This record gives sequence, C-alpha cells and structure tokens, in this order.
Amino acid sequence: MSDRYAVIGNPIAHSRSPFIHARFAAQTGQDLVYDRLLAPLDGFAAAVQAFVESGGCGLNVTVPFKEQAFALAGRRSPRVEAAGAANTLSFDSNGWTAENTDGIGLVRDLTARHGVALAGQRVVVLGAGGAASGVVLPLLEAGVRDVLIVNRTAARAVALASRLAGGAGPQTAVVGRGLDGLDAESAAGALLINATSAGLSDARLPIADEVFAAAAFAYDMVYGARPTAFLAQAAALGCPRQADGLGMLVEQAAESFRLWRGVAPQTDPVYRQLRDEIGRA
Ligand code: NAP
Repeated sequence: MSDRYAVIGNPIAHSRSPFIHARFAAQTGQDLVYDRLLAPLDGFAAAVQAFVESGGCGLNVTVPFKEQAFALAGRRSPRVEAAGAANTLSFDSNGWTAENTDGIGLVRDLTARHGVALAGQRVVVLGAGGAASGVVLPLLEAGVRDVLIVNRTAARAVALASRLAGGAGPQTAVVGRGLDGLDAESAAGALLINATSAGLSDARLPIADEVFAAAAFAYDMVYGARPTAFLAQAAALGCPRQADGLGMLVEQAAESFRLWRGVAPQTDPVYRQLRDEIGRA
C-alpha cells in the first residue's frame, strides 16, 4: 500500500497541496498518496489521531490549526518553538514530530526565485499571526539586518518581537509596533512582507502611500490569478519590485516533502504548472 499523507485544515477544499505533492511524488518516483482532510473546528486532535491510527505517515497543517499542532506534538524543532506554530507533522513509533517549513519556503522563494539578497536587508513584516511567527527566525538566520513587525493589534506585534528577539544576533533588532507605527523612514529600502490575511478579502491595509514608495520589494504571502490589492498598491505607488506567495507555497511544500521522504524535489516545474493552473481558473 502507498504511504499516506494529507493536508488538514478548515476550510480545506481550496488547498493546492495535493496538486503539489502529487507532482513531487511523480517527479521523484515516491510511492505515496496525499489527500485533503477537513477537521471539525473543535476536533483537530481527534482527526489527527484517527489519521495516525489508520496508518498515516505525515500531515501538513493549515489554518486554523497550526497552533494546536504545536501544542500537541511531542517533539518540536527550534523553528516550531520560536514560531509557536507548526505546519508539518511526521509520525513514527516515537510519536508526533512538528516542524515549521513556512519560513524556509519564504527564504528560498525570495533568494532562489526572486534573487533577493537577504544578508544585511531591512525587513518589515506586516501581521503577527501564525505566518508572521513562522518566518521571522528563518529570516534572521538568513542574515537580515533588522525586522520590524507591525500589526493591526499592536500588542501582538510587541509580544511576537520580544519572543523572537532572542534569535537575533547582537547587531540585529526585532521590534514590534502597531500598523500606525510604520512610516517611510522605517520602510526605506525595506523588504515589505504582507503576512496578514487582509488580502484574502481584497481589504486594503491602512498604510501610507510613502511607505510603498520607500520600500525596495513588496511581497504578499497571499497569491492569486491577479495581483493582490497589496501588490497592486505597491506597484501603483512606485515600489520597484513585487511578488506573491505562490513560490513560498511550493517551497514550503518541498521542504515538508524532503523531511518526510528524504529527497528534495525540483520546485520550478511545479511552480510554473501551478501558476498556469491558477491563471486558467
Ligand atoms: P492568522 O494567524 O489568522 O493571522 C492573521 C493576521 O492578519 C493577524 O496579524 C491579523 O491582525 C491580520 N489581519 C487580518 N485581517 C486584517 C485586516 N483587515 N487589516 C489588518 N490586519 C489584518 O493567519 P496566518 O496563518 O498568519 O496567515 C496569514 C496569511 O498568510 C493568510 O492569508 C495565509 O493564507 C497566508 N499564508 C501563505 C503561505 C504561503 O505559503 N504562501 C503560508 C502561510 C500563510 P490581528 O492580530 O490584529 O487580528
């Protein structure tokens, strides 16, 4: 029987992970099946347990269960500990192991696909939820100079920054503020990363025009057939470069696949296929 994997979330019908992992498996000759698993909002642990008992080998975890995956796992990587959230679970006779591949996915997409040099780079992260929590430590490990976390709820940004500041070197600052604390000066030359879910509803973030004009690169973790509201705003206001999160999606999946199967798939062909698919949808 093929090894079984799945992505678990609620909702889950929209997930592209089965498409991505099926292509990784075909490309690398791995014998596995990968499904979608809809868990009740109050039934994440029971759904994971049932999956494990039926022989499941690993799960990707998406909204809104990443924090629960962190809490339930017996073993956690340092990235999971830093993020307080996990997107990848592996099961073996020793129990559940949690990893967070979102940050590695973002870093690889930025550096390998978009040619962004992260060493010494100033970064502004918009948002302080699960996605923002997962990417800050890998960005610090990639050598960014400082990270400003800004969030609608300022207290969450401040709390996240103080939790993650320990992962920063002596020359690197991690600071948290409310969205109104973001100005052109703090965004000057920065990589501006939208890790809020505002883009899912096409809502515009209350950010001054000068911020976009001052930034060097605008990145939205959300993706779609058209540029998101955030990226359209960035382009219109003079930010020289923009990218959406489709590449991050493929790269974080590739890292989960590598952890589970011990083989790293090629991501570019799958990224291009997915971009075509989304464009046609
Ligand atoms: P989350 O934990 O629910 O956090 C949502 C964040 O967005 C919070 O910081 C929230 O601020 C902020 N927010 C929501 N609506 C807002 C609005 N109208 N104005 C300003 N801020 C708003 O979600 P998440 O797991 O971090 O995911 C965030 C986004 O990243 C989602 O769209 C997700 O699809 C995307 N994502 C993409 C990838 C990828 O591979 N491309 C991977 C992970 C996540 P408050 O704290 O004030 O509520």
